[in-house]
Amino acid sequence: MSTATLTIDLDAIAANWRALDRLTGPEVQTAAVVKADAYGLGVTRVARALAQAGARRFFVAYAEEGAAVRQALGPGPQIAVLSGHMAGDTEMIFDLDLTPMLNSLDQITRHLESLPGHPFGVQLDTGMNRLGVEMLEWQAVAPILVDAGPELLMSHLACADEPDHPLNEAQLRAFHAMTDGTGLPRSLAATGGILLGPRYHFDLTRPGVGLYGGLPHAAAHPVVTLSLPVIQTREVEVGEAVGYGCTWIADKPSIIATVSGGYADGLPRTLSNKAQLWDGDTPCPLVGRVSMDLITVDITHLPEVPRFLDILGPHQGVDALAEFGGTIGYEILTGLGSRYARRHQEGAA
Ligand SMILES: *Cc1c(COP(=O)(O)O)cnc(C)c1O
Repeated sequence: MSTATLTIDLDAIAANWRALDRLTGPEVQTAAVVKADAYGLGVTRVARALAQAGARRFFVAYAEEGAAVRQALGPGPQIAVLSGHMAGDTEMIFDLDLTPMLNSLDQITRHLESLPGHPFGVQLDTGMNRLGVEMLEWQAVAPILVDAGPELLMSHLACADEPDHPLNEAQLRAFHAMTDGTGLPRSLAATGGILLGPRYHFDLTRPGVGLYGGLPHAAAHPVVTLSLPVIQTREVEVGEAVGYGCTWIADKPSIIATVSGGYADGLPRTLSNKAQLWDGDTPCPLVGRVSMDLITVDITHLPEVPRFLDILGPHQGVDALAEFGGTIGYEILTGLGSRYARRHQEGAA
């Protein structure tokens, strides 16, 4: 087999959800964000594992993603759509009982006119300037909308991964100003917001990346292992170059392994000559450029040629790999390509 294997530890995802749930009071509900195919890990299996762990509310980016979650979970759990109620989504929202988080006056009008009585929430812009109803608009529509009974008033923090950033407090104040006295359930915190402490928790939290082993949830259990098969090895002499552009040149006689996996599989080209792969506990430097389907690795120091090398695993999580490539764990996770065989592990613990 020449394609790589992405192993996803569903027990670790469940344990991460429970750990984040324990960081908030018993009156605070913990939802689960499973947008982008559960951050690239396979939404059907991941959503089922999270439901089994106790999650009752799920967030997706688009209605189509909500359809996949509804199919995985059946009726019951609430599925909230962060992009709100887009033109053309009405039938899907109704048929699959999705709960749009309305983002603008247009969406509010569309929803109340096309699906009166159908559950919805409202997303408020408290300073990120990305999605949500702004302060002045909200003041105009709040009296009508609050009577229509939104299930949730929510907003999103722009800098929650930087605890000292002044925007956190500013957004918290704005959220209070917009929602105090409504008596409606409220949500402000994603993974980063949970870690900012109880003032940010309100009634519901919405962790995503922290479930999947990523920062800022530093205590997370590792979730993914990505093993790349070794296709062939060769000996190179001093002065010989490896890969496109001859960016790595051997300064000693070396053994180079060529492994399956490249930038078409979400392993960024910026990892070239920087990242490491692992043979069990032994690191092996990535040498030369990452190409579309292949990576070259210096294994001169290994006693035997391994069958595969891990680029993600217990020694190197998504954030450590991201660091080599100048990106973030979120981007590594969601970029993990469609060519991997995904193996979901469960019941190991
Ligand atoms: C993606 C997203 C989340 C989850 O964020 P994490 O940082 O992955 O925990 C929560 N809320 C909204 C609005 C989002 O877009």
